[in-house]
Parts: sequence; C-alpha cells; structure tokens
Amino acid sequence: MDSKARKWIAAANVLRENTSAIVICPECNVGHLHVKDELIPNWDSKIDRFMICDNCGKYNILTMENPHQE
Ligand SMILES: [Zn+2]
Repeated sequence: MDSKARKWIAAANVLRENTSAIVICPECNVGHLHVKDELIPNWDSKIDRFMICDNCGKYNILTMENPHQE
C-alpha cells in the first residue's frame, strides 16, 4: 500500500468521528479535506461521506453507518 493510500485511510478514520477536524489533503499536501454527506438511495442505514480537497479537488468516499439516523 502506498503512503497516499495510507493517508487517505488515516483521514477517513479522523473524519468518520469528527467532520470538522482539519486534515491535510493526502494528494497535494496543501489543501484541507472538507466533508459532504450524501444519503444512499434505498439504504437508510448508510451514507457516503465525501472527503474533498479544497485545493486540488481530489476526493475519496467513505461509506459508513448513517450518524443522522434516529
Ligand atoms: Zn489536495
């Protein structure tokens, strides 16, 4: 596994718990990752959490338990 992939996993682990955490982009090492949650149609218990760089625009998607669900 390359170091970028490892950094994305570390970023996902942080942003899974704390969407306002400041995480440096694994791709450009300049921007910060922003989080956007998308509901998955017909799958209420899960969401796709997009982690998007505000500098280079690269992103990764973390599929996780829906924290907004009652
Ligand atoms: Zn970036």
